[in-house]
Amino acid sequence: MGRDNPGVVIIGAGMTGILLAIKLQEAGITDITVLEKKESIGGTWRENTYPGVACDVPSHAYTYSFAPNPDWSSHFPAGAEIHQYFKDIIERFDVAKFIRYNEPVTACAYDDATRRWTVTTERGDYEADLLFSATGILHQPKIPGFPGRDTFTGHCFHTARWDHSVALAGKRIGIIGTGSTACQVIPELVAMPGTDVTVFQRTPQWTAYMEDRPFADWEKARFARQPWRMQLIRWLSSFVYSRGTAALAGDGVFDRLTHRLMAWNARKLLRDAVTDPALREKLTPDYQFGCKRVVITSRFYDAIQQPNAHLVTEGIERFEPSGIRTQDGTLHELDIVVLATGFDPTAFMRPMAFRGSGGLSIEQAWEKKITAYRSMFLPGFPNFFLMLGPNSPIGNQSVIEISETQTRFALQLVDEWRAGRLDRIECTPAAVARWAAMIREKVQHTVWASGCDSWYLDADGDALTWPFTWNKWVAMMAAPDFSDFVARDAGD
Ligand code: NAP
Repeated sequence: MGRDNPGVVIIGAGMTGILLAIKLQEAGITDITVLEKKESIGGTWRENTYPGVACDVPSHAYTYSFAPNPDWSSHFPAGAEIHQYFKDIIERFDVAKFIRYNEPVTACAYDDATRRWTVTTERGDYEADLLFSATGILHQPKIPGFPGRDTFTGHCFHTARWDHSVALAGKRIGIIGTGSTACQVIPELVAMPGTDVTVFQRTPQWTAYMEDRPFADWEKARFARQPWRMQLIRWLSSFVYSRGTAALAGDGVFDRLTHRLMAWNARKLLRDAVTDPALREKLTPDYQFGCKRVVITSRFYDAIQQPNAHLVTEGIERFEPSGIRTQDGTLHELDIVVLATGFDPTAFMRPMAFRGSGGLSIEQAWEKKITAYRSMFLPGFPNFFLMLGPNSPIGNQSVIEISETQTRFALQLVDEWRAGRLDRIECTPAAVARWAAMIREKVQHTVWASGCDSWYLDADGDALTWPFTWNKWVAMMAAPDFSDFVARDAGD
């Protein structure tokens, strides 16, 4: 044990947990335990198995920077292929040995006397000097409390809890929501034999078009021979998405022009793709492009115009035994209802009982506002790292890039702590207050605060997303400012 080889617990064996295990092992730490609540790794790629699930970040950008994959089948491969990438990674980087499966964490508590964390699972306790929460951003499904939902006699499930025992062919399927997930599912449901698909849309979405195509075998061989080609796609993707973020967050002339161009393009896409003016009207958002996360799809507009697809924009009044009744009094009779209603973006480690120094609970710490310094650190929670915390989603940027910047940042602090130059890794209350004020001030001047409801903002209109550019994030996460951490030099 000791600071040279501390005990580390990582909660969650998804993309971020695996990354941390690899990088901590590379840093010479061997006492690592990754607690995974389910029977397999993969986080979002294990949970989301709905028809059409894929990543809308190009595959060569949605890989660890240190583990390119020349064998991706296409630019936007299916979720199962991405899941397999992570399964291969844990073997290739020899971190499978750290993972303990079927161990949902129920509680974490910091002991001020021993200066260690006790992490409790249904099977027992683990001790840790350093604790990382890698539970993902969008993990806990949001299930709206529709009146009468329990009375529905058909099948009803959330997209992240897809019930594969339910046959879809020939069924009357309702789907609630038109976000990124719904727009991946709907084309698949519409294409199934004999289905009749009713889409319940509360708010239309702006979309951007990205066509997929399979890589030929010769292209894969060329990626393997010339890895710079994969790097080029990665760089281009990051550049394009970062320009998109700048257009939504920035206030320079070029940013505003880019935003106009993107908005014009989205309108043109809709105009060209949807021929019926009444349907087009229903699909046209009344808020600025990019206010909600832009849906990247090449198939949604085509699917919604198929004869077996119906767009319903009247609000949902209630569920009834045979279907959904909308506010205009119509009963939509259904066999299956799919809830593509998104996720709670503030659940983070909850529902765990989470207590820091002096028994401070996470509910107390976040009583007024869910925030974390540099999206990772909370006063009163020493040696705890919240990966992909508040303000870490950055536009449509690859979440792997975001996790990698956070991991590098965290490791710099761990190095200082191991060398005895930091007594403990804990930010000051002043640092988190300054951070929250900076976020609050900036988001007001972005497209995200221009008048729409989205998971990018909390109930008070404060940002859950990163309201600056990608470049600012990279600069911010390049190196810690040690004056923002308590007890600097106390260990000397
Ligand atoms: P979402 O973007 O939050 O969309 C949820 C949808 O459900 C919205 O259309 C919403 O309508 C609707 N909805 C929610 N509650 C409702 C209610 N009570 N009544 C009627 N409609 C309701 O969720 P998501 O589509 O699952 O996507 C979440 C995020 O996951 C995305 O923004 C993205 O970051 C990520 N994602 C990424 C990919 C990828 O390929 N990388 C794929 C899927 C998802 P309103 O708009 O009116 O609220």
